[in-house]
Formats: sequence, structure tokens, C-alpha cells
Amino acid sequence: MSNLISKNLLQEFEAGNLTDLGRQLHQFASELYPICRSITGDGMRQTLAQIQKRIPLETFEVPTGTQVFDWTVPKEWNIRDAYIKDAAGRRVVDFQKNNLHVMNYSVPVRAKMPLRDLKPHLHTLPDHADWIPYRTSYYQEQWGFCLSHRQMMAMPEGEYEVSIDSTLAPGHLTYAECFLPGKSSEEVLISSHACHPSLANDNLSGIVVATFLAELLSQVKRKYSYRFVFIPGTIGAITWLARNQKNTKRIRHGLVLTGIGDRGGFHYKKSRRGDAEIDLAMAHVLRHSGEPAEVLEFSPYGYDERQYCSPGFNLPVGCLMRSVWGTFPEYHTSADNLDFIDPLQLARSLRICARTFDVLENNQSLRNLNPYCEPQLGKRNLYRSTGGAKISDEIHARLWVLNLSDGEHSLLEIAERSGLAFESIREAAALLSESGLLAPAAKAKGEAAADSGSRKPKRSSQPKRKGITRR
Ligand SMILES: [Zn+2]
Repeated sequence: MSNLISKNLLQEFEAGNLTDLGRQLHQFASELYPICRSITGDGMRQTLAQIQKRIPLETFEVPTGTQVFDWTVPKEWNIRDAYIKDAAGRRVVDFQKNNLHVMNYSVPVRAKMPLRDLKPHLHTLPDHADWIPYRTSYYQEQWGFCLSHRQMMAMPEGEYEVSIDSTLAPGHLTYAECFLPGKSSEEVLISSHACHPSLANDNLSGIVVATFLAELLSQVKRKYSYRFVFIPGTIGAITWLARNQKNTKRIRHGLVLTGIGDRGGFHYKKSRRGDAEIDLAMAHVLRHSGEPAEVLEFSPYGYDERQYCSPGFNLPVGCLMRSVWGTFPEYHTSADNLDFIDPLQLARSLRICARTFDVLENNQSLRNLNPYCEPQLGKRNLYRSTGGAKISDEIHARLWVLNLSDGEHSLLEIAERSGLAFESIREAAALLSESGLLAPAAKAKGEAAADSGSRKPKRSSQPKRKGITRR
């Protein structure tokens, strides 16, 4: 039990210095916010380049037309400018002011037309007259503008000049990975979509928390290897899975991170398996966090867990969110902006992730070396010396660990069964191990799978950076 992430990674959080961390997370989100991202193109590349300034990143380019399972990598989309000008030549809708003004993946257009012909290409939200909707048309070649309803209502009849200076042509789909090798070749997959333009919660919150999590994990000794992927939603996850199908066997735990910056309570959506270790760990951490939280069963709609949990893969991948997609009015509108995400909530989301991986890193099964009746704790200084009326949680934790350490129960399962926090159970286990009462179970549950077989840790593909394994 030497690789205690918590002693390093969690200390900062537990010391309560979330304010500064939150500020840094929000600052990074604001740097990425103006970039016009899409499922392909230079916006994605610029975003990955920004992430790469913080963590080691390998970028992959997959050509247009590449077959990925039932899908095909689309043409690459890039945009430079777009506007609608009125008869006086004034830009009444201007891409330079907000990149949501152009329907993502709009084909180029340059034309003059009366308002009645333009209107079928205009998208608004009558119920939220000041917000701009976010619209895409990835798989149907068309063009459109998105604007506030108020803006549209203020447009008089007459001729308008429309221009979308975009290109839709053979190119590439771009994604990136940050790989942090650990002691085991078994991997943790953390996936964030990075294809939404100026939207803060749905997209940027996941990207910034994942980036900071990678930064933190790079500084501690790791049992697992970690693979962070920054990909376009749906087609990116499908592309990544198609190119890494064999490697998915190494994935031991996985998490999709998105929508974790708003002020709503946490929602953890379980993997399709429903009882994966990460499902138990996340539920446990949330329950003991004091944060408002709800655990949701798996459903085949949502973010990229849909692909990771498709029946052919059925990976142990869950999804951590705050407010659930589609349930808040700001979702997929210009109101999902930098004010909609809160620095402190971003930091708290990062803390939940760090605590969960701390549990997974330290979860193991042990064996009680003195299983015939209770060992005498008093003579080992492990029991209260003056018999009080109540025994403390500390003693409870020791008794639970001793009783259930039969090689069949992991520390997380013991924590769950005892109702005590993982941290207390782990501390008890550490103390009992030091006293010679516990030993690692020979083929402990969970551990057996983690390091089984003759697979060697695949570290050669990534140069080891100096200083990434400090304790
Ligand atoms: Zn979205």
C-alpha cells in the first residue's frame, strides 16, 4: 500500500484550497472558450495545442473517408468568417462576435436574398429570446445561421447579403491522447469530447477538469496506466475505438467527463455493467463527499459512454456530470457560457475525480493472517486502553477489515458493507498490515485480473518524462 495518491494528490484539496484551483480551472476554460471547435478542423487542433502546453499529448490525424465500424470519417470543416448584412451593409449577424452564429458544418455560401428566402436558414429560440442556439449539421450538407429571437424579430423585410466563408473538403479528423504509464499495464480511460465551439459546461468543463486531473496524476506514483483522450463526440469515440479495439482489453476503469462546471448537484451515470468497480467507487465517493449527488442507471443515450458501453465493447466506463444534458435550459445555447460554469464547482468536480481514482488506486483485497477468532488488539496497541462506553469508528474500521479480509472482499467492499468511508478502511488496513496481521491476498479479488498474464507494461511508446513519478 505504498502508492498513496491521497498523501500527495488529495492533500491540497483536503486542505481546502479549492478557490485558487477553481480560478485556474476557470481561467483555462476562458482561454479555450473563443475557439470555434467542431468535430474536425483547425478549431480542434488549436484546442489540443492549448492542452498540450499543460500535459504531454500525442495527436492523431485520421483521413476523411476512413471506415470506422458503421461510420465514415467525414470531410474536414474549417471556417474563417460569416455574416448576414442588411441593405445598408451592416453586419446584423456576425460570426466574429459569436461563433455559435453559424450552424456548425455549414457549407460555404455567398448570396443575396430577401428575408423570406433567408428565414428557413435561420434558427432561434423563441422561449429564450436573447440566447443563440447551438446547431450542427454534420451529415447533411446545408448552411444556416443561429441568432437570438430578438435579433431575428428586429430584421425588417428586404434584401440581405449572406456569406459563409467555410470549406468542407477531404482532410482529417483530429484527436489526442495523454498517456501516463503506471506500474500495471492495465489502463484507466478518461474521455472528454472537445468538439463544441463556445460552450462552457457541455465541453469545456470536461476538458479542463480532465487536463488538470492528468497534470495531478502525472505527479504521483501510479498503479494503473492512465489514458486521457480528447476527441470529437460520437464520431471521435467511434474512431478511437475502431483504431484501438485490441487495446480496449487493457481498460480496467473508464470515465467520461463532461458537464461538470455548473452549479447543479453531481450525477454519475453507471456503466452498462452496472457493477463495475468504478461504479462502486464513484457511488461511494459521492455518498461520503457531502455533495448533493445522484447515481443514475445506465441508459443508451447520453455522451460517449454510449460507444464505450456498446455491447461489443461493454467497457467499465461511466459518466460523471453535474446537471444532466438536456435537462437545463442553457444546454446547447449561448447561455452555457463562462458565467454558467463556476470556479469552485469545477474544483469540486476535480476533487471528486481525484478521490475516486485514489480509491481505485488503493483498492485491494487482503488476507487476515490470524483468522481464528479475533487477534488480541490490546497487546498490539490497536485497541482502546481504557474501556469507554462506545468504541470509535477507528476501532470499528479495524474490526471490519479483520473480519472481511478473507481474500474475497476488497477494501472498497468492506467500506461499503461497514458504512465507513474508504479512507478509514484503508488507514485501518495499513495499520493492521504494519502490525503483521494482514497480508496481500495471494490471488486477491480484482488484483488478479489487474496484473495477470504475461503482458508487459507498454511504456516504450511514450518517452518517460523526468519527474513524473515523484512520490
Ligand atoms: Zn453537447
